[in-house]
Amino acid sequence: MHNKPHTDIAKAKISTSKKGVPALWKRRATKSADGVTLYRCGKCKEFFDASCFYKDSRTLLGLKTECKKCHTATTIASRDLENSRRLNSEYMRRARAKNPDKFRERDRISSKINRIKHAGKVSAREKLNSAVRSGDVKKPNTCENCGNQTLLSGHHADYNKPLDVKWLCYSCHGKEHRAISFRRVDLAAVKESLTTQIGGAL
Ligand SMILES: [Zn+2]
Ligand SMILES: [Zn+2]
Ligand SMILES: [Zn+2]
Repeated sequence: MHNKPHTDIAKAKISTSKKGVPALWKRRATKSADGVTLYRCGKCKEFFDASCFYKDSRTLLGLKTECKKCHTATTIASRDLENSRRLNSEYMRRARAKNPDKFRERDRISSKINRIKHAGKVSAREKLNSAVRSGDVKKPNTCENCGNQTLLSGHHADYNKPLDVKWLCYSCHGKEHRAISFRRVDLAAVKESLTTQIGGAL
């Protein structure tokens, strides 16, 4: 990479001489069949004509690097909720490492808000923590869901019963909460309302 930005003269030179001519390493592998140019898909490595690629103005060819079939497969895979959640958490971890002060401030504010918003939860957690400290509640070593030996937190089924918890690892605890919010959705009701909306069977 350059340390200094290009001068305007240099920029003009580059743009006239390189216009429409991709750098060698950026050029896509092509093949010619009956006068039609075929491009190699970056994923399945097969050759297809331009119509088999979705448009993408960010690339030199104006086509995505993956063929339509591969692109669809990639999109579906990234739509998988647990997968995108994992990708997002990895992204956030990097963002935190890059900008710790910004996130510290954000955490401080959100914990303040949470204490007010979820007063019942906070007080249940505090009662539980003090019971663990005093030895009234024994915290196990392994997650009650997956059996992993790691940092555990108590999951409350009912915040009115602060000492009645299930000990879960971070990941199982998150899943438990997401499962609850999913269970709260009455699927039959959703289906019925959709059916009436589109005026037919689903
Ligand atoms: Zn492909
Ligand atoms: Zn677990
Ligand atoms: Zn919980």
